[in-house]
Amino acid sequence: MPQAGFHAIVGIASRRWMPKREWLLLGLVLGNMFPDLDNLLVAYASLARLPNPEGYHRTFTHSLFTIVFMVLLFHVIAALTKKEKWKNFGIGFGAGILMHILVDLVLWFNGVELLWPFGGEVNFWSWFITPGWLKILLDTGEFLAFGFYFLLLDSLAMRYSTDANLRGPSKTWAYIEFALFALFTALFFLIGAKGLQYQAFGGLYLLLLVVAMVITTRMKATIESI
Ligand SMILES: [Zn+2]
Repeated sequence: MPQAGFHAIVGIASRRWMPKREWLLLGLVLGNMFPDLDNLLVAYASLARLPNPEGYHRTFTHSLFTIVFMVLLFHVIAALTKKEKWKNFGIGFGAGILMHILVDLVLWFNGVELLWPFGGEVNFWSWFITPGWLKILLDTGEFLAFGFYFLLLDSLAMRYSTDANLRGPSKTWAYIEFALFALFTALFFLIGAKGLQYQAFGGLYLLLLVVAMVITTRMKATIESI
Protein backbone atom coordinates (compact mmCIF):
# COMPACT_ATOMS: atom_id res chain seq x y z
CA MET A 1 0.00 0.00 0.00
CA PRO A 2 1.38 3.37 -0.89
CA GLN A 3 0.81 5.46 2.21
CA ALA A 4 -2.50 7.30 2.43
CA GLY A 5 -0.73 10.65 2.95
CA PHE A 6 1.25 9.95 -0.23
CA HIS A 7 -2.04 9.39 -2.11
CA ALA A 8 -3.31 12.74 -0.80
CA ILE A 9 -0.14 14.51 -1.97
CA VAL A 10 -0.54 12.91 -5.42
CA GLY A 11 -4.10 14.28 -5.46
CA ILE A 12 -2.90 17.81 -4.74
CA ALA A 13 -0.06 17.51 -7.26
CA SER A 14 -2.54 16.63 -10.01
CA ARG A 15 -4.13 20.08 -9.65
CA ARG A 16 -2.55 21.47 -12.80
CA TRP A 17 -4.29 18.90 -15.00
CA MET A 18 -7.71 19.47 -13.46
CA PRO A 19 -10.26 22.03 -14.59
CA LYS A 20 -10.99 24.59 -11.90
CA ARG A 21 -14.45 23.85 -10.60
CA GLU A 22 -15.88 24.34 -7.16
CA TRP A 23 -15.16 21.35 -4.86
CA LEU A 24 -13.61 19.29 -7.66
CA LEU A 25 -10.12 19.23 -6.13
CA LEU A 26 -11.55 18.71 -2.64
CA GLY A 27 -13.35 15.60 -3.93
CA LEU A 28 -10.21 14.48 -5.74
CA VAL A 29 -7.98 14.68 -2.66
CA LEU A 30 -10.54 12.93 -0.44
CA GLY A 31 -11.12 10.33 -3.17
CA ASN A 32 -7.39 9.64 -3.19
CA MET A 33 -7.52 8.82 0.53
CA PHE A 34 -10.91 7.13 0.75
CA PRO A 35 -10.04 3.62 -0.58
CA ASP A 36 -7.76 2.80 2.34
CA LEU A 37 -10.65 3.25 4.77
CA ASP A 38 -11.26 -0.43 3.97
CA ASN A 39 -8.62 -1.00 6.65
CA LEU A 40 -11.40 -0.22 9.13
CA LEU A 41 -13.01 -3.46 8.01
CA VAL A 42 -9.68 -5.26 8.21
CA ALA A 43 -9.38 -4.05 11.82
CA TYR A 44 -12.92 -5.12 12.63
CA ALA A 45 -12.33 -8.53 11.05
CA SER A 46 -9.18 -9.09 13.07
CA LEU A 47 -10.84 -8.00 16.32
CA ALA A 48 -13.81 -10.27 15.58
CA ARG A 49 -11.32 -13.03 14.72
CA LEU A 50 -12.81 -13.61 11.27
CA PRO A 51 -10.67 -15.72 8.93
CA ASN A 52 -8.15 -13.84 6.76
CA PRO A 53 -8.84 -10.23 7.83
CA GLU A 54 -6.17 -8.90 5.42
CA GLY A 55 -8.29 -10.27 2.59
CA TYR A 56 -10.66 -7.29 2.90
CA HIS A 57 -7.98 -4.78 1.96
CA ARG A 58 -7.92 -3.50 -1.63
CA THR A 59 -11.30 -5.01 -2.45
CA PHE A 60 -14.63 -3.15 -2.34
CA THR A 61 -13.21 0.39 -1.99
CA HIS A 62 -10.66 -0.28 -4.73
CA SER A 63 -13.18 -1.41 -7.36
CA LEU A 64 -14.14 0.27 -10.63
CA PHE A 65 -17.78 -0.29 -9.66
CA THR A 66 -17.28 1.82 -6.53
CA ILE A 67 -16.16 4.71 -8.73
CA VAL A 68 -19.35 4.50 -10.79
CA PHE A 69 -21.44 4.19 -7.63
CA MET A 70 -19.82 7.21 -5.94
CA VAL A 71 -20.12 9.46 -9.00
CA LEU A 72 -23.81 8.54 -9.32
CA LEU A 73 -24.40 9.00 -5.59
CA PHE A 74 -23.05 12.55 -5.62
CA HIS A 75 -25.03 13.34 -8.78
CA VAL A 76 -28.15 12.36 -6.86
CA ILE A 77 -27.07 14.51 -3.89
CA ALA A 78 -26.46 17.41 -6.32
CA ALA A 79 -29.93 16.97 -7.78
CA LEU A 80 -31.57 16.78 -4.34
CA THR A 81 -29.73 19.78 -2.90
CA LYS A 82 -29.76 21.65 -6.25
CA LYS A 83 -26.07 22.39 -5.70
CA GLU A 84 -23.81 21.89 -8.69
CA LYS A 85 -20.72 21.67 -6.47
CA TRP A 86 -21.76 18.24 -5.20
CA LYS A 87 -21.63 17.00 -8.78
CA ASN A 88 -18.10 18.40 -9.13
CA PHE A 89 -17.20 16.82 -5.80
CA GLY A 90 -18.47 13.42 -7.02
CA ILE A 91 -16.52 13.59 -10.28
CA GLY A 92 -13.41 14.57 -8.32
CA PHE A 93 -14.05 11.80 -5.80
CA GLY A 94 -14.40 9.18 -8.55
CA ALA A 95 -11.28 10.43 -10.32
CA GLY A 96 -9.46 10.37 -6.97
CA ILE A 97 -10.36 6.72 -6.37
CA LEU A 98 -9.18 5.88 -9.89
CA MET A 99 -5.86 7.64 -9.27
CA HIS A 100 -5.50 5.79 -5.96
CA ILE A 101 -6.05 2.45 -7.71
CA LEU A 102 -3.52 3.25 -10.45
CA VAL A 103 -0.89 4.34 -7.90
CA ASP A 104 -1.61 1.20 -5.84
CA LEU A 105 -1.10 -1.01 -8.89
CA VAL A 106 2.20 0.53 -9.85
CA LEU A 107 3.72 1.05 -6.42
CA TRP A 108 4.34 -0.88 -3.27
CA PHE A 109 4.16 -4.58 -3.97
CA ASN A 110 0.50 -5.65 -3.83
CA GLY A 111 -2.43 -6.45 -6.10
CA VAL A 112 -5.81 -4.72 -6.37
CA GLU A 113 -9.24 -6.33 -6.89
CA LEU A 114 -10.19 -4.04 -9.69
CA LEU A 115 -13.51 -5.65 -10.51
CA TRP A 116 -14.66 -6.54 -7.01
CA PRO A 117 -17.07 -8.32 -6.27
CA PHE A 118 -16.27 -10.32 -9.42
CA GLY A 119 -12.68 -11.00 -8.40
CA GLY A 120 -10.32 -9.92 -11.14
CA GLU A 121 -7.27 -9.21 -9.02
CA VAL A 122 -4.54 -7.38 -10.89
CA ASN A 123 -1.11 -7.77 -9.39
CA PHE A 124 2.11 -6.62 -11.03
CA TRP A 125 4.00 -7.65 -7.91
CA SER A 126 3.12 -11.32 -7.40
CA TRP A 127 6.77 -12.23 -8.03
CA PHE A 128 7.95 -9.98 -5.22
CA ILE A 129 8.43 -11.12 -1.63
CA THR A 130 8.45 -8.12 0.69
CA PRO A 131 11.41 -8.39 3.08
CA GLY A 132 10.62 -7.83 6.76
CA TRP A 133 12.52 -4.54 7.10
CA LEU A 134 10.74 -3.08 4.09
CA LYS A 135 7.35 -4.17 5.42
CA ILE A 136 8.11 -2.30 8.66
CA LEU A 137 9.10 0.87 6.82
CA LEU A 138 6.05 0.69 4.55
CA ASP A 139 3.83 0.46 7.64
CA THR A 140 5.43 3.16 9.78
CA GLY A 141 5.92 5.25 6.63
CA GLU A 142 2.16 5.89 6.83
CA PHE A 143 2.89 8.33 9.66
CA LEU A 144 5.74 9.92 7.75
CA ALA A 145 3.56 10.49 4.67
CA PHE A 146 0.73 11.97 6.75
CA GLY A 147 3.28 14.29 8.36
CA PHE A 148 4.51 15.55 4.98
CA TYR A 149 0.92 15.95 3.82
CA PHE A 150 0.07 18.15 6.83
CA LEU A 151 3.19 20.25 6.26
CA LEU A 152 2.15 20.64 2.62
CA LEU A 153 -1.32 21.83 3.68
CA ASP A 154 0.29 24.26 6.09
CA SER A 155 2.64 25.71 3.47
CA LEU A 156 -0.23 26.03 0.96
CA ALA A 157 -2.32 27.83 3.59
CA MET A 158 0.59 30.21 4.12
CA ARG A 159 1.01 30.81 0.38
CA TYR A 160 -2.68 31.51 -0.25
CA SER A 161 -3.36 33.23 3.11
CA THR A 162 -6.18 30.83 3.88
CA ASP A 163 -7.28 28.88 6.97
CA ALA A 164 -5.04 30.90 9.28
CA ASN A 165 -6.70 29.33 12.33
CA LEU A 166 -5.93 25.79 11.11
CA ARG A 167 -2.26 26.26 10.34
CA GLY A 168 -1.21 25.71 13.96
CA PRO A 169 -3.16 22.46 14.31
CA SER A 170 -1.98 21.05 10.96
CA LYS A 171 1.62 21.71 11.94
CA THR A 172 1.09 20.11 15.36
CA TRP A 173 -0.41 17.03 13.69
CA ALA A 174 2.62 16.86 11.39
CA TYR A 175 4.99 16.74 14.37
CA ILE A 176 2.82 14.11 16.08
CA GLU A 177 3.07 12.01 12.91
CA PHE A 178 6.85 12.35 12.74
CA ALA A 179 7.15 11.36 16.41
CA LEU A 180 4.93 8.31 15.84
CA PHE A 181 7.02 7.34 12.82
CA ALA A 182 10.18 7.41 14.93
CA LEU A 183 8.57 5.61 17.85
CA PHE A 184 6.99 2.74 15.92
CA THR A 185 9.96 2.27 13.60
CA ALA A 186 12.18 1.85 16.66
CA LEU A 187 9.66 -0.45 18.40
CA PHE A 188 9.14 -2.66 15.37
CA PHE A 189 12.85 -3.10 14.69
CA LEU A 190 13.65 -3.70 18.36
CA ILE A 191 10.81 -5.96 19.50
CA GLY A 192 8.98 -6.91 16.31
CA ALA A 193 5.97 -5.73 14.30
CA LYS A 194 3.42 -7.90 16.06
CA GLY A 195 1.26 -8.28 19.15
CA LEU A 196 0.14 -5.31 21.21
CA GLN A 197 2.43 -2.76 19.56
CA TYR A 198 1.14 -3.73 16.13
CA GLN A 199 -2.47 -3.37 17.29
CA ALA A 200 -1.63 0.06 18.70
CA PHE A 201 -0.05 0.97 15.38
CA GLY A 202 -3.13 -0.20 13.44
CA GLY A 203 -5.51 1.73 15.69
CA LEU A 204 -3.46 4.93 15.45
CA TYR A 205 -3.11 4.59 11.68
CA LEU A 206 -6.89 4.36 11.25
CA LEU A 207 -7.50 7.25 13.62
CA LEU A 208 -4.98 9.41 11.76
CA LEU A 209 -6.44 8.49 8.37
CA VAL A 210 -9.78 9.83 9.59
CA VAL A 211 -8.03 12.89 11.08
CA ALA A 212 -6.36 13.54 7.71
CA MET A 213 -9.71 13.43 5.91
CA VAL A 214 -11.32 15.72 8.51
CA ILE A 215 -8.45 18.25 8.31
CA THR A 216 -8.61 18.13 4.50
CA THR A 217 -12.32 18.93 4.63
CA ARG A 218 -11.83 21.72 7.17
CA MET A 219 -9.04 23.25 5.08
CA LYS A 220 -11.12 23.21 1.90
CA ALA A 221 -10.58 26.96 1.47
CA THR A 222 -6.87 26.21 1.05
CA ILE A 223 -7.41 23.28 -1.28
CA GLU A 224 -9.85 25.29 -3.36
CA SER A 225 -7.27 28.09 -3.75
CA ILE A 226 -4.61 25.90 -5.34
ZN1 LIG B 1 -5.06 1.44 -1.50
